[in-house]
Amino acid sequence: MIFIMFILMILNFTYNFRDYGIKNIDNKALVLAKTIEHSLTNQMLNDVINKREIFLKQLEDLPNINKIWLNRQQKVIELYGNGLSNQTIKDDIDKRVLETGIAEKHIQESLFSNSTYRITIPYKATSTGVINCMNCHTNAKEGDTLGAISIIFPIDDVKQTGITTISNTTIIALILIIIIGFLINYLISPFLILFDSIKKVMGKAQDGDYSKRIEPSKNKEAQDVSLWINILLEKLQTALDNIDSKISIFLSAEETKTKDPLINAENLIDRISAIYKFRRTIEHDEKLEDIYIRLAHIIKSNLNVTDINIIEANTKNGNLNYVYINKEDFCDLENTICRADKTNEIVDSSQFQNICPSCRKKDSNYLCLPYSISNDLDLIISIYTDNSSEIPALRENINFIKDYVEASKTVIISYKLMQILKENAITDPLTKLYNRKHLEDQMPKITEQANRASLSFGVLMLDIDHFKMVNDTYGHDVGDIAIKRIASTLRENTRNSDIIVRFGGEEFLVLLYNCKEESLLEISEKIRISFSEQKIPAGDEIITKTISIGTSIFPQDNKDLIKCIKYSDTALYEAKKTGRNKTVRYKKELNKKESI
Ligand code: GH3
Ligand code: MG
Ligand code: MG
Repeated sequence: MIFIMFILMILNFTYNFRDYGIKNIDNKALVLAKTIEHSLTNQMLNDVINKREIFLKQLEDLPNINKIWLNRQQKVIELYGNGLSNQTIKDDIDKRVLETGIAEKHIQESLFSNSTYRITIPYKATSTGVINCMNCHTNAKEGDTLGAISIIFPIDDVKQTGITTISNTTIIALILIIIIGFLINYLISPFLILFDSIKKVMGKAQDGDYSKRIEPSKNKEAQDVSLWINILLEKLQTALDNIDSKISIFLSAEETKTKDPLINAENLIDRISAIYKFRRTIEHDEKLEDIYIRLAHIIKSNLNVTDINIIEANTKNGNLNYVYINKEDFCDLENTICRADKTNEIVDSSQFQNICPSCRKKDSNYLCLPYSISNDLDLIISIYTDNSSEIPALRENINFIKDYVEASKTVIISYKLMQILKENAITDPLTKLYNRKHLEDQMPKITEQANRASLSFGVLMLDIDHFKMVNDTYGHDVGDIAIKRIASTLRENTRNSDIIVRFGGEEFLVLLYNCKEESLLEISEKIRISFSEQKIPAGDEIITKTISIGTSIFPQDNKDLIKCIKYSDTALYEAKKTGRNKTVRYKKELNKKESI
């Protein structure tokens, strides 16, 4: 670039110098031509024109003039003859200038031989000057070319000066170029090398390769820059390696990796943060079923699944329960065996059609995934699709489901434990019936139901007759069997909506939901008779026992449930007193009797 600029500068310089030299000679030629013209005119007027040859010869001897000659136009020849020998037309240039009246300039240039500049200037007839030409040139008109003068100048000195100036300029410019080159090399080149190295390293980083480093530089500043960039790259690479090795272990799902570890790290962090967010959310969910709804929603939206069910499998008692149903319960869990639960392996209908006997719809497409949550709880996630070709794609993403199930695990377990604690707090361990605490908890609800929906509750208070004798005769264990037997008798003879409470040792309370006066005695008697028919194993013997029952109706007998319970207890006392193994309906008179 600098070199081209230098050449252009020299060419421009040469051209201007030459142009200036020629313009100088032009001016000189014009002055000389005018001087000769005036001189010859004066010689004519002074009648010494015949001496002009000496004058012209003297002119030729002037320095820096090679040759001077004059030409006469035909009209002048007609009046004054041919003139001197050197006044004949010498060449075509003379001819043309006489014909056209336009001056001509010609340069004969050569680098190694003599160079000359020739100018041929026409003399024109004019009446406006000091002397009227037409006075002597009577046959000429205004503006006619009367003759011409040709002068040849040597221009070697111009050329020589030009060459010298250009040479000097070239030398100075070359020295300048060398200095600039040195400066560029010394000051700029380390930065250019650095830039080139950064470009290569960043190009690799752009493709995901962060292992390349910037070449060290000799320049201090460039060295610092390369060092900082290298440190930054080192940190970045270490961080990415750490993310990959230390964070990815928290995920089962293998992400489809790109070439760029930075993008992979970003994807990894995105997934971890999504799982973390999910976990934080489910931790604050009030109910376990909310967690299952959320889990199902995450799977549906991320795997583009439309139909999904979640089943809880109790590994201790083998019970299977739907905890999330999307559209319908596809499996007959009560009467058939769930294959995923039994084998603890993925059940894929695309591998064998109708592989699971539990599925109600024949030839349907499903993928059932069993996950162990705790020692006694498994979760089975069943995904159903319309198209069997979707199943292979789902299988590729099952680790995604695993990550979310893993994230839910501890939360599900803690909810389950809480459930167990809550159940224990309100359950009697021997009979698994509710205890008095549950009854107390439910009292406000029952009272509210009775008031709002005008519902009646039958209140049964039961007690085993002569139970002490069982303990005393057969031992405490037989007593426990009898207590358990009455619990099962109560379960069998009541509905799910009824509440059975172990009220005391061998005393039980039953709240019969929506029970009218007519059916109160009927249910009570059914229970009583049913228990009296129970054969209780007592060592080598089989014994039977009876119960006494006191009844009342809430809120008909009293708007206060506690009072009604008391009434039933009073009626029970009456039953005991009047022979046992019977049902006594509470009446007001019993209170009076009691107080007597
Ligand atoms: P009654 O016909 O008047 O009711 O006579 P009873 O012998 O049944 O007298 P009572 O109801 O007072 O007897 C209660 C006995 O029940 C006392 C206690 O030893 C026994 N008992 C209470 N809880 C349990 C239990 O969990 N297991 C066993 N085996 N016995 C219990
Ligand atoms: Mg008793
Ligand atoms: Mg008792």
